[in-house]
Amino acid sequence: MSNALPELSQLEQLISRYPNWVRASPLAHISVARQSLAIWRLELGNPAPHLPVLGLFAGVHGMEKIGSQVLLAWLESLLIRCQWDDSLLQLLDNVRLVCIPLLNVGGLYLQQRANPNGVDLMRNAPVNAQGFTAWPLGGQRLSKHLPWYRGNPSQLEIESQLLINTVQQQLLPHPFALAMDCHSGFGLRDRIWFPYAAHKRPPYHLAEAVALREIFNKTYPNHDFYLMEPQSLNYTTHGDLWDYLYDQQRSQYPAHVFLPFTLEMGSWLWVKKNPRQLFSWFGHFNPILPHRLTRVLRRHLTLFDFLLRATASYQRWLPDSTQREPYQQAGLMRWYQSN
Ligand SMILES: [Zn+2]
Repeated sequence: MSNALPELSQLEQLISRYPNWVRASPLAHISVARQSLAIWRLELGNPAPHLPVLGLFAGVHGMEKIGSQVLLAWLESLLIRCQWDDSLLQLLDNVRLVCIPLLNVGGLYLQQRANPNGVDLMRNAPVNAQGFTAWPLGGQRLSKHLPWYRGNPSQLEIESQLLINTVQQQLLPHPFALAMDCHSGFGLRDRIWFPYAAHKRPPYHLAEAVALREIFNKTYPNHDFYLMEPQSLNYTTHGDLWDYLYDQQRSQYPAHVFLPFTLEMGSWLWVKKNPRQLFSWFGHFNPILPHRLTRVLRRHLTLFDFLLRATASYQRWLPDSTQREPYQQAGLMRWYQSN
């Protein structure tokens, strides 16, 4: 049990408290400042290969603790509901849930974006951006002492490799997989990004992303604070792990559906409402005031519940081959008209 990092203690307490519901494996231990911190993978639900999977990830960027906190808050609520909510247990019979809530556990401990080797994991994948990319934001190989360092091109970082292995082994072989990777720090809105980061072309599963957006917006008309869009609409980057995994999925399992999303919580709003946060680097990425933290922790519970239910029932809302065209056109009109 680690007291070095409160989020890791919370995660390890969940694992020890709910052994009947959660299967947990330490994927690796990261040594940092004489601590040995585990990277945990949690699984719930039914692992049968023909069933759909939801993958939830957080803590890729160590500065963005709020992503891990939001995911842990939802997981804790889910595990408590496993004690009394029969409908949840029935749901979990029909879906598998795989989570890595603290991927860059060394970076979280050090309160830095990069991993302990100074590598930005979201610039570390073997993918190069096409067209104009802002330097160094899009990823740089000059120095690990500058932000957005891509790392050694011939050696993936251990955290990146663990994420890739988990998605390749636990998500992609299933007929339907949805992933959400929780970040913070960009803009005033809560954004839900989908590939690509490397270029401005649409992903193959644009129609499916539009269909998911439509059922969310119709089901939760008062949760209109999410802005869904391709990441490349904001900026393009090298080395995005989700770009890499999405292309892997397309070449290895072309008949399967894989929808990888990134939740980018808009932290500028917290700074705007509490300008003193401007003077704290941590405050650029995380809500500081207790009431705001509570509000952010409950703000996304509905989204995670929705994703679990939408994954379990994907056959009910996913457009089939004869229905894809209008969804595809709607996505092209909304996001790709300037191409
Ligand atoms: Zn991030």
